[in-house]
Amino acid sequence: MIITTREDTIFLRIFAAVILSGKQLSDSIKAELAAEVALFPERYGRAPHLAVILVGEDPASVTYVRNKERACEKVGIQNTTIRLPETTAEEDLLARIAALNADPGVDGILIQLPLPAQIDELTAIKAIAREKDVDGFHPENVAALWRRRTEPEPNPQYCVPCTPRGIIRLIKAAGVDIEGKRAVVVGRSNIVGLPVSKLLLNENATVTICHSHTRDLASITRSAEILVVAAGQRALITGDMVAPGAVVIDVGINRGEDGRLYGDVDFESVAPKAAVITPVPGGVGPMTICSLLENTIDCFINRQ
Ligand code: NAD
Repeated sequence: MIITTREDTIFLRIFAAVILSGKQLSDSIKAELAAEVALFPERYGRAPHLAVILVGEDPASVTYVRNKERACEKVGIQNTTIRLPETTAEEDLLARIAALNADPGVDGILIQLPLPAQIDELTAIKAIAREKDVDGFHPENVAALWRRRTEPEPNPQYCVPCTPRGIIRLIKAAGVDIEGKRAVVVGRSNIVGLPVSKLLLNENATVTICHSHTRDLASITRSAEILVVAAGQRALITGDMVAPGAVVIDVGINRGEDGRLYGDVDFESVAPKAAVITPVPGGVGPMTICSLLENTIDCFINRQ
């Protein structure tokens, strides 16, 4: 009987990945955040306040903003969504941002991307006060992330982008020691690929970044002990591209013709080989919103 149990255990370890639920982890973090935020009115006189600007009615953006509102309500963060028409001129958006920057009762500002074509994204992002930039997209905050950690920081208080922050949290929650590991990141976007690569580097992983011009992707992904995939290509990574025992983090969100969401990783063929894998949906997505709440709280505390 004991032998059977041990065999079962080995079987599970070799042939079945641990499915890492971002949903469960984010629920428990949100419960902790709610308890923390509940103390703020007495300690600081008020709750943190996140302002979100939504320009237009892109369906995915509308859904994301609604999810952010719900998450804020759940943990007691005050939330204001400013909904502007699709035709909003850049100068009108900049005036709104300036007003939020100047409002002492607003701690975090998020502009839901993408923006309509008449508005330059970088101009809008640069207009956000650095200390209220909960997305961590402001060029000064990006530079702060990429500065070598050994250099003294004149102002160490900045937010790192939400999805990468959530990914590192998930990997650590799985009990994975990142230090010294071979990490491969597929994707080099400003929102996910690049910042998560730097955060892995900060944790002393040896990081390789792959992108759409990478030759023989499979030979590189097979070398990964930690594989983070953020390419926006459904089932880009299949079982033959993953080393046995790898930690696989699937960031991709792709809507199938059946209306369901799929990741960038072919779960069916990769899960039997990986040690740990995140599902889509319910993996990285919930962690992104959780990081937004944490960034808002960080901005609030930094401003006290
Ligand atoms: P992006 O389009 O800005 O970047 C995609 C990156 O993948 C690029 O650097 C590109 O070079 C690389 N790439 C594309 N095809 C490739 C290929 N065949 N081989 C190797 N590299 C390839 O996308 P993004 O904003 O980084 O998002 C990536 C995915 O993650 C999307 O599906 C997006 O919806 C999803 N996403 C999820 C969350 C979340 O919270 N779960 C957050 C942000 C983005």
